[in-house]
Amino acid sequence: MNTIVMKFGGTSVANIDRIKNVADIIKSKKKNSIKIVVVVSAMAGVTNDLCEKSKAISKNFSNEEYDVLLSSGEQVTSALLSGCLIDKGVKARSMLAWQIPIVTEGQHKNSRILSVNSKSIFKYLDEDYVVIVPGFQGISEQMKISTIGRGGSDASAVAVAKALNADRCEIFTDVEGIFTTNPQICNEAKKIEKISYDEILEMSSLGAKVMQSSSVQKAMMNNVEIFVKSTFSPEKSGTQILSDDKISYNKVITGVAYTNDDAKITLIGVKDKPGVASAIFKPLNDQNIIIDMIVQNISADSKKTDVTFTVKRDDMPKAKNIINELKKNIDYDDLLTDAKVSKVSIVGAGMITHPGVAYKMFDALSSKNINILVISTSEIRISVLVNDKNVELAVKTLHSVFELD
Ligand code: ASP
Ligand code: MG
Repeated sequence: MNTIVMKFGGTSVANIDRIKNVADIIKSKKKNSIKIVVVVSAMAGVTNDLCEKSKAISKNFSNEEYDVLLSSGEQVTSALLSGCLIDKGVKARSMLAWQIPIVTEGQHKNSRILSVNSKSIFKYLDEDYVVIVPGFQGISEQMKISTIGRGGSDASAVAVAKALNADRCEIFTDVEGIFTTNPQICNEAKKIEKISYDEILEMSSLGAKVMQSSSVQKAMMNNVEIFVKSTFSPEKSGTQILSDDKISYNKVITGVAYTNDDAKITLIGVKDKPGVASAIFKPLNDQNIIIDMIVQNISADSKKTDVTFTVKRDDMPKAKNIINELKKNIDYDDLLTDAKVSKVSIVGAGMITHPGVAYKMFDALSSKNINILVISTSEIRISVLVNDKNVELAVKTLHSVFELD
């Protein structure tokens, strides 16, 4: 192994002792001729705090200055960690995004990384330095400091790993890896050894807490293999995220995911004619309301049908207003809403080759008297919408039925 990228999240560098612990992890890795680039987040809470300060000083704080302000959190961690390593006798130096440079494009607060100049990093790696790079920040082509969206340090790590053609990209966080479901609601949850990019993207409710989704997409596009590990038990193997052709699936299902912030909207008795669906969803789209599940019934008389869809619970009042406004353009008999629904999903690339998975899922839920409100599927996921109060039971039941316990 030659070059590795190690990324440490906010909780891993939350205070001085934890930064010292991170320095020890790096020092113990820095043997032989291995080249190490470390990407760091801001210390836990710092970015939020800076964000609050910007709001306190101005109701419309400039986006450009927001980036200068928020990117400072990662600079602090970089210097502290680098200084700590030097103190421990490890050759180290921090390199801020503009020094490398990590060039970004797009709008402030939400830029995308265009390029990482690997030459400047290799210059120091070749001299045996550990190079510490602040995540989340970049510099625009207009030479302005930029940031790449909250949680963006993961994407920085993936971009650096890709630019250096690193052998490994390790994401250190406060959990031991990705679990088959949330251990907080299911005691039987197990750590997953290997999971595909697609699966983790589908399990966003589990995965996104561990890694930002767009960074997983980026890793998938560039074939960067990722190891999610715990900073507090770095000797454990963690979870490896890679492409599905490198995984042999002996289980049909890899994990059970769930949300708890959905809301359901039903339009009863809309006309069954072309253009109605687009008339409903266009204004919602125009207002940036994300629609998740959609079902339209077959109309028995070819005249009227019902349309049900789900939105995020926070968007429900806004969506309801839009649909009420719609009354002027399209006709419907009634509008029903339910803000106490959640989506429970089984995810697994193994289901592609195993028939009967949907039946097994529905049967298991019915055996517990859990009513299914809406169903949606992808190639590797089956999701059902259920009442909030059934979520925990549904998760535990599916976890057991699909032999993840
Ligand atoms: N510090 C940034 C944030 O809190 C970026 C990151 O930690 O990934 O969003
Ligand atoms: Mg994070």
